[in-house]
Amino acid sequence: MSSEPDFTRLRYLRETEEDRRENAETTLSVSELIYPIFVTLGSGISRPIDAMPGQFQMSVDVAVEKLGAVHDAGVDKVLLFGLPQYKDSTGSSAQDADEAVQSAVREIKRTLHTMTVITDVCLCEYTDHGHCGIVTAEGHVDNDATLPLLAAAAVSHAEAGADIVAPSAMMDGQVAAIRAGLSHGGFSDTRIMGYSAKYASSFYGPFREAAGSAPQFGDRRSYQMASTQSDEAMREIEADIAEGADFIMVKPALAYLDVIRRASETFPEPPLAAYNVSGEYSAIKAAAANGWLDEESAAMEALMAIKRAGADLIISYFAPDAARWLAQHS
Ligand SMILES: [Zn+2]
Repeated sequence: MSSEPDFTRLRYLRETEEDRRENAETTLSVSELIYPIFVTLGSGISRPIDAMPGQFQMSVDVAVEKLGAVHDAGVDKVLLFGLPQYKDSTGSSAQDADEAVQSAVREIKRTLHTMTVITDVCLCEYTDHGHCGIVTAEGHVDNDATLPLLAAAAVSHAEAGADIVAPSAMMDGQVAAIRAGLSHGGFSDTRIMGYSAKYASSFYGPFREAAGSAPQFGDRRSYQMASTQSDEAMREIEADIAEGADFIMVKPALAYLDVIRRASETFPEPPLAAYNVSGEYSAIKAAAANGWLDEESAAMEALMAIKRAGADLIISYFAPDAARWLAQHS
């Protein structure tokens, strides 16, 4: 007499495409994606970023047209980085109402009412030395002297109509300073997405070409976190929440999936964003261009991993492609 072998049968979960879809534990929706773009003043400008194939530095008119198509595809959240007309030691163009980010915010909100506009708030794109804060004569980044400048930049974005401001400088107290600045300026409805746990990462390499923000001396390890740290990330997130952050973030995503998971379990609220950074994007693009990886399946696998780890929102240069891929398979 033959008896049934004694083991658990799980292959029924994945026998067919329908089985796999029905039994999916994790799903990814286009509404969870945020598309980061780089804007500049001028018109008709669309400069390819060599290190990030498929991404461009765009003048506001071109960006608005591109975002219209992206919005039609279902991506309704954009994160803006600016390329300013001028740089100085204090990054004063960061709070200039006529600069690229502020102009882009006004134009996007005017033409695409339902697009949620998030602005990056930092000084590194605006300072001549490329650091995220004020640099002292000794070459040290001065935390407290930087805070009012970040707050002023955030207020100028809010004035332009930004829905969410996202401080990325990794200065202690930056969320509190911005919250106070927004309240004082009459923008208590503007929300704050803290880049709470931002690591000093080699995966930011391609972004520095895109945003023209490479530090002219030294590096950012005195303010961004070391890859050895996980407890410290929880303390950073806790501090941002205490200071009034409406969203928290882990950046980068793929090399820090454990931090995303831990953050999502430790802090069920507020919503957690994860930034699938330039190097993570470009690595897949480069491998795909060489025929070493299939771009769609590698990118979607990476995005699914970030979601599975616990991210509520994913900032990714793949957002428009992912929207198209998701639509094709629905
Ligand atoms: Zn910065």
